[in-house]
Amino acid sequence: MANPIPPRAGLSCAVDILVLNQTEVGALLPMAECMDVMADALRALAAGDAAVPLRTVVRLPDGHSAFAMMPATLARSAALGVKVITVFPGNEGTRLDSHQGAVLLFEAEQGRLLAVMDASAITAIRTAAVSGVATRALAREDAAELAILGAGVQAATHLEAMLLARPVARVRVWSRTAGRAGEFARRAAERFAIEVEAVASAEAAVDGAAVVCTTTAAREPVLHGAWLAAGTHVNAVGASVPTARELDTEAVRRARLYVDRRESALAEAGDFLLPRREGAVSDDHIVGELGDVLLGRVPGRRSGTEVTLFKSLGLAVEDVAAARHVHAKAVGAGAGTRVAFGGERSAERVPLTRAPLTPDPDPRRPMPFRRLPTPAIAGVLGALLASASAGPAAAQAPAATQPTPFRVEETTIAELHAAMRAGTLTCRGLVERYLQRIAAYDKNGPAVNALVLVNPDALRTADSLDARARAGGALGALHCVPTIVKDNFETAGLQTTAGSLSMAGYVPARDATMVRRVRAAGAVVLAKSNMAEFAFTPYETVSSILPGYTKNPYALDRVTAGSSGGTAAAVAANLGEVGLGTDTGNSIRGPSSHLALVGIRSTMGLTSRAGVVPLNLAYDVAGPMARTVADAVAVFQVVAGYDPADSTTAPARTRPLPNYATALAPDGLRGARIGVLRQAYARPSADPEVLAVFDRAVSDLRRAGATVLDSVPIAGLDSLLRVETGECNRFKYDLERWIAGTGGRTPVHTLDEVVRSRRFHPSIEPRLTYAQHATVPPEANAACAAAERVRDGVRGAVRRAMDGLRLDALVYPTWSNPPRLIGDLNTPAGDNSQVFSPTTGWPAVQVPMGITRGSLPAGLTFFGRAWSEPTLFRLAYGYEQATRQRRPPATTPPLR
Ligand code: NDP
Repeated sequence: MANPIPPRAGLSCAVDILVLNQTEVGALLPMAECMDVMADALRALAAGDAAVPLRTVVRLPDGHSAFAMMPATLARSAALGVKVITVFPGNEGTRLDSHQGAVLLFEAEQGRLLAVMDASAITAIRTAAVSGVATRALAREDAAELAILGAGVQAATHLEAMLLARPVARVRVWSRTAGRAGEFARRAAERFAIEVEAVASAEAAVDGAAVVCTTTAAREPVLHGAWLAAGTHVNAVGASVPTARELDTEAVRRARLYVDRRESALAEAGDFLLPRREGAVSDDHIVGELGDVLLGRVPGRRSGTEVTLFKSLGLAVEDVAAARHVHAKAVGAGAGTRVAFGGERSAERVPLTRAPLTPDPDPRRPMPFRRLPTPAIAGVLGALLASASAGPAAAQAPAATQPTPFRVEETTIAELHAAMRAGTLTCRGLVERYLQRIAAYDKNGPAVNALVLVNPDALRTADSLDARARAGGALGALHCVPTIVKDNFETAGLQTTAGSLSMAGYVPARDATMVRRVRAAGAVVLAKSNMAEFAFTPYETVSSILPGYTKNPYALDRVTAGSSGGTAAAVAANLGEVGLGTDTGNSIRGPSSHLALVGIRSTMGLTSRAGVVPLNLAYDVAGPMARTVADAVAVFQVVAGYDPADSTTAPARTRPLPNYATALAPDGLRGARIGVLRQAYARPSADPEVLAVFDRAVSDLRRAGATVLDSVPIAGLDSLLRVETGECNRFKYDLERWIAGTGGRTPVHTLDEVVRSRRFHPSIEPRLTYAQHATVPPEANAACAAAERVRDGVRGAVRRAMDGLRLDALVYPTWSNPPRLIGDLNTPAGDNSQVFSPTTGWPAVQVPMGITRGSLPAGLTFFGRAWSEPTLFRLAYGYEQATRQRRPPATTPPLR
């Protein structure tokens, strides 16, 4: 985690944990997902990426109950955990599960306890999920008949897993107590709408079955090898001590035996150890571990007739992987109960407090329309706002330090720093104000729907920044700047999905370089914002991670453009101070134009994309979005510059980073030479009102002292852009390389898996399936090389035009039509951003230019040569100061 541990203060602790009960764990761990998580965990184990000591079992005096501790570490996902559990077989027939306890999950950087969660649910689900993985790997593909021996907890979860693993059509269940089998069959048939028959003997259940699951607490065999038909696969789950067995010797001898872990099987599996003692099998009867089969190191089933057997003992690595997954999802969904726990060096004791993650019911809070927030936002906001009034800063700051509430709406970084210096604003106070606005406007009121999740650590970070300020330490350039981060930036401790449900639950351990840099400069990551899924479309902001469109707060029935529309809507609606977006063809500048913001797309190579989910690395640029040029430039100063993690920034290594603030002269347009780039926007469908606003902007440029040449043609541009280069679609390669860079910690690992998961917004399916067809990596793709040659040609043509007329920059309307109605993909869009800046790799800055239709923003783009950011900032700032076109949206007014 990148956040420093906040100092001990008030009711906050160094370690806050999430407590998740059985129902919550069950809801957050669907069987299908758990099967994927288990397959990953077993692969990691086989690959040596996990450490799993043998469990410690304390036998209790009654002779059959036990108390067990099962620790494990998972290297790649940096998860540490332990399951502490009691096994009381005597609980059968009572309300109590035979397996009870907790899984404790820790993070691996500072060793903090993250979560305590119910172990009954995890055990029930993960055990069956592992059998599901084994069945997928070892059972016949056409297995349609299932036998289950036992009718308890494991029997139920195994039925669910088997239905996912194979096309099961008929189920027979046997249990020692006939009534329980009957009851099980009735419930199962009801729940899964399939034929489930309770039978009188284990043999009758097994007869003809292609898959058999033994899930009993029996100590003597309930399954006999003689009953098994050729080609059957058996999951043996029940017996997990050396002296107990569910299978007779013949069943084990006949089968190709696979285990979850060899060391555990040799120490604990009575099902194997007892036949070995009889001399029927030896150690090499174990064909291999399931993880090795999944990695392709050990063959699985070789024919349709052999009997395969998977002996499961249950491994702590499964519990830890499941817990890590549940925790990540809980954080994303705002689920569970946060408890201020402890973990402090101080010997003083902090009273235990609970902050239930439910919306604050305080009726005085200004929430004009009381629509229910979605869980991810509501839960976290509820907890944050509930703690707001009683928070440490409030407790510690003398009343005199906050005489009147600071007005955050349309504030600038300079203003909030001035207020902090004057002692009239604390960081906590500022963050609280933004959180209140998020509570009032993001999912309530106008329901702008810009945010996927709010950072539950935001107030804690604010408190630590306040403490630093009080201590008189050096403060960063972005000290306490509440920042909205697009969902495709990896953000340590916060779910990062690029808007895709297929990535849900991925919580990076590291920050994208830009996020790391803004945090290091003191920024508070306030929230992750919605985006066009995988940044595919420039037109609208809709994804599968957040239901519904992100709306344009200037007209709620209008789009924000894509793909950084969530960041844009949030910053425009004053739900954060500044934001980070990404731009492949439009996506910083376009949404900034639709939302009356300043957006900077830098020279390719001046800013890092490391840790950003890519769309097309030949064109992707990340950068700031803000309400003023000065704010955007302040963020740019922090994020720009060489990054060893992104080789594209190598040219920036030898260039000293300018002090961009010196470019911010109010008369920056005086003496400037600017060309109007009609080839960017002049087309019959351009909106007359937008063109009129642009004409006025050109007049304003002149009035402010610039010489404007209208217009400047780029000779040869049209023929260059008509060159047929062939197909260079790099998405698959860029995405999969990024995933590999995460250590494969994402829920899906390839584009094919994204597609197979079906967990994406239906609108992007054509883009995904088209990208799947790429067969040549970009380095080897002649079409990509041809596209680079065209880009060189365009650079040359633009350079000649600018040099010939000694131009500082070219200008054009960022969009030549107003924001479209949500859902309208037919009327002309007018996106003018795709060609010049992305093709050349040269910078462009978008500035608010005015409004059309009474409320819809339009924007002006300044575009210039590579590395000319200081010039563009000077011009943009000069234009902004001369015209001050930015207006806040009417739908998100100041809170009372
Ligand atoms: P439950 O208590 O829910 O169910 C126990 C089942 O075992 C019941 O169906 C019961 O039958 C049957 N049973 C008990 N004693 C006997 C016996 N002597 N002969 C035949 N059947 C018997 O337990 P769970 O479903 O949670 O667990 C089932 C088994 O799986 C346990 O042994 C447990 O230790 C093991 N387990 C293994 C895990 C692994 O990772 N491999 C993980 C979790 C559990 P009836 O109710 O009809 O009397």
